[in-house]
Amino acid sequence: MNFKDKEEFIICPQCGEEAFVTLRYGFNKVDCPVCEYFLIVYLDTDGKAWTRELGVLETAENQ
Ligand SMILES: [Zn+2]
Repeated sequence: MNFKDKEEFIICPQCGEEAFVTLRYGFNKVDCPVCEYFLIVYLDTDGKAWTRELGVLETAENQ
């Protein structure tokens, strides 16, 4: 499998912090670096990120 980790830009909906996070294939628990907010992001084998959270991960598609 030719697959690399992917950097994604997140905006925390709770405190407004902006951060880069590194995603790996499969399910990722992404923590806000400032507050206690986290979200679950799934990265598929095509490098596409999926999440249920709206507007947190700019490039993700919502399920
Ligand atoms: Zn936050």
